[in-house]
Amino acid sequence: MCGIVGYIGTKREAFPILVKGLQRLEYRGYDSAGVALVNGNHELSVYKAKGKVADLEAFCADKDITGSVGIAHTRWATHGEPSSLNAHPHYSQSKNLAIIHNGIIENYAEIKKKLMNHGVKFLSDTDTEVLVQLIEYIQSKKNLDLLTAVQVALHQVIGAYAIALLDKRHPDTVIAARKQSPLVVGIGDGEFFLGSDASPIIEYTDKVVYLEDGNIAVMKLGEDLKVVSLQNEKLLPEIKTVDIDLGQIEKGGYPHFMLKEIFEQPECLKNCMRGRINVEHDSVKLSALIDYRSWLINAKRIIIVACGTSWHAGLIGKQMIETFCRIPVDVEYASEFRYRNPVVGKDDVVIAISQSGETADTLAAVELAKEKGAFIYGICNAIGSSIPRATNTGTYIHVGPEIGVASTKAFTGQVTVLTMFALTLAEAKGTLRHNEYTRIVKELVEIPEKIKEVLKTNEQVADLARTFTYAHNFLYLGRGFSYPVALEGALKLKEISYIHAEGYPAAEMKHGPIALIDSDMPVVVIATHNAMYEKVRSNIQEIKARQGRVIALVSKGDTTVSKIADAVIELPDTLECLEPLVATVPLQLLAYHIAVCKGKDVDQPRNLAKSVTVE
Ligand code: GLU
Repeated sequence: MCGIVGYIGTKREAFPILVKGLQRLEYRGYDSAGVALVNGNHELSVYKAKGKVADLEAFCADKDITGSVGIAHTRWATHGEPSSLNAHPHYSQSKNLAIIHNGIIENYAEIKKKLMNHGVKFLSDTDTEVLVQLIEYIQSKKNLDLLTAVQVALHQVIGAYAIALLDKRHPDTVIAARKQSPLVVGIGDGEFFLGSDASPIIEYTDKVVYLEDGNIAVMKLGEDLKVVSLQNEKLLPEIKTVDIDLGQIEKGGYPHFMLKEIFEQPECLKNCMRGRINVEHDSVKLSALIDYRSWLINAKRIIIVACGTSWHAGLIGKQMIETFCRIPVDVEYASEFRYRNPVVGKDDVVIAISQSGETADTLAAVELAKEKGAFIYGICNAIGSSIPRATNTGTYIHVGPEIGVASTKAFTGQVTVLTMFALTLAEAKGTLRHNEYTRIVKELVEIPEKIKEVLKTNEQVADLARTFTYAHNFLYLGRGFSYPVALEGALKLKEISYIHAEGYPAAEMKHGPIALIDSDMPVVVIATHNAMYEKVRSNIQEIKARQGRVIALVSKGDTTVSKIADAVIELPDTLECLEPLVATVPLQLLAYHIAVCKGKDVDQPRNLAKSVTVE
């Protein structure tokens, strides 16, 4: 949550770099934004505005935005309502310091009370302001330099943070620190960049340092990057080269990132499988599984921990692993798992799924499972993020940066990796007949082409969306492998169009949701030619008998359901276990077009943020 950008140099103006960086990070939070700049006269100015980065830009139009040192922030409020007062950066009382912060200072109330007793005055309701006031208090009370004051203050703080600080008395330095919230330093020629991820940086340099928990970075003009611990031990930062190209983080002619990312899926899934599937031999190899073969083969149980869309991918993974590998799989919400003293131990493998690799609850679940001795496998997208670093091994989904807040290509990437995982493990365990194994591998390779075919329904789905925009509620039904697809379809609609939607296993409808069905209620049913076809067809009859309006996803050439449904979208045939990969796509499109028809902000839906780095 929240985006952090920083720049310190001599050759360039900071403001344009900061604003562009904030726009690239806006998917992380967008209730307010702000910037702090030090100009040539050593004046520290803070400008903040409620709303989006564009509102901040407009606000700054008549302000002094000169200076080649600055920090900037887009906020996703946790403490204090979204307002210009609560927006970051926050000044210290003397206005010598300015801070930006991502995360939560959990003991802020206690510290605030103490500081207020010492006469410190607060302007905002945020937990963040407490930190900058504490740093200044320590600095002045003990006459310490900024770095030492930051170290002392961070020792007193409980919670998660990525911070950046400016001190107008030392305009040649920016200090940044992280604990459980990501931070990347970009190293240029006589200049430094800072970002919550590498996207604001890659335009200027490909040399980056991913800060580790407990690291403090000192970016001082004329000196090399210095990284120290909270105890002031000098650390050796590992400089990495990033290879994200700019086109990947821009819209490339599409009106929204979400639509671009939906359409990118065929290419993304090819990238995800590249080097992992040997087409000539119809075989799958995941290097993580080769390296840790015995751990995985001997697992007595697999526990998948994830949140939101990744949790839905996990439900598909469960069916796949149980069917192919005959290992019991539990799928847990990471947020529940971490707080209920789960039974987990050294015979278990825990698979953590997170697009950003920074999801706070999933990361905490990983730490807990690790403590209890489980073997941890990560499935993430963001390279070098916290979860891959905390796991024993794992597989990146390699679908490229996902910017739209509603996850699309990451979901299909996660399902593809889970499929490859299940196949590799099944082969190693000998639990899947070889011809069945090769049949699935062959078909998996065909999936990108089949998704391309599904994408041709875009216009048809857009028409459907216009018909159904009126609805206030939607039901999504599916069975077996399609049940998590129904959940995912409903979640997409909720997220971006704010229409209430529920996903259900189709057969469960009669145990409750059927009471909701009337002529105003659209029901999306996944009714392809699979083992459950006849049963689902009966469910459709039950809906029609109650005047519900049915949008059915059917297999190409279906004539039966097409006769009773109000609208049908045809899907190419595939194996039942791979159907989620094709069936999800029209549901992504449906949610997208309904949100567009309703005039909603598709890429940045209200109250949501992409990378959920708070609990
Ligand atoms: N807890 C801080 C606030 O509410 C930072 C939130 C964020 O990460 O954007 O202001």
